[in-house]
Amino acid sequence: MDSLELSGPVRERVRSARRVVVFSGAGVSRESGLDTFRGAGGLWERMRPEELATPEAFRADPAKVWRWYAWRWRQASEALPNPAHHAVARLETVFPSYMVVVTQNVDGLHQRAGSRHLLELHGTILRAFCNRCGRTQDMGEAIAGSPEEPPVCSCGGRFRPAVVWFGESLPEDTLAEACEAASSCDLFLSVGTSSTVYPAAGLIELAHRAGACLIEVNPEPTPFSGLMDLRLAAPAGEVLPALADAMERSRCPST
Ligand SMILES: [Zn+2]
Repeated sequence: MDSLELSGPVRERVRSARRVVVFSGAGVSRESGLDTFRGAGGLWERMRPEELATPEAFRADPAKVWRWYAWRWRQASEALPNPAHHAVARLETVFPSYMVVVTQNVDGLHQRAGSRHLLELHGTILRAFCNRCGRTQDMGEAIAGSPEEPPVCSCGGRFRPAVVWFGESLPEDTLAEACEAASSCDLFLSVGTSSTVYPAAGLIELAHRAGACLIEVNPEPTPFSGLMDLRLAAPAGEVLPALADAMERSRCPST
């Protein structure tokens, strides 16, 4: 998409926005070559999540789970941030007073694109922690030292990826911070997420209740599409750079 014009009311909301939340999901990383977890062609269609991404799976077959995450870590490390990640990072300069990216992704691509204010609701694949004492280490170093099975900690525990597995709760502090941000924002941008997973999807409801201007970028409609002030039915990497440009113009009408 070359250019995008915001309608009058949305442009006005963007112009006056002071607190901005970007909520991102797997669709943002799809154009970096990383599979999405839900939707057509998703990773979960080929792998059974209950066999790999649960505490039970790790207890039953730690080596299998470790190798799968080592593969996913390599994928994430070799992937490059795409125009969607870069556009989100640029929004931090468009809205300098307050902007936070709340992401469901664990791939670290937002950081690599330059986003600084980031809440990782589902943890990160870039770190591992000991399931007994909580000690953390860099995932790449952990894999390099022990590619076939999870390293054993000096306490006798096992290192596992620092991601949230099915059946586990989201990190409390991070979730509280994300809820606080959504409840007090005046512009909420939902990008590349099917918005079906709670409690993460509840953030949209919080922003809606706060009266925020809601913008959705997702090829398929979501349960919240009807609430949106603006909905762009396209892949994030195609449309976000143009949206960031349009937002920038709204903020600085003279340029
Ligand atoms: Zn330990």
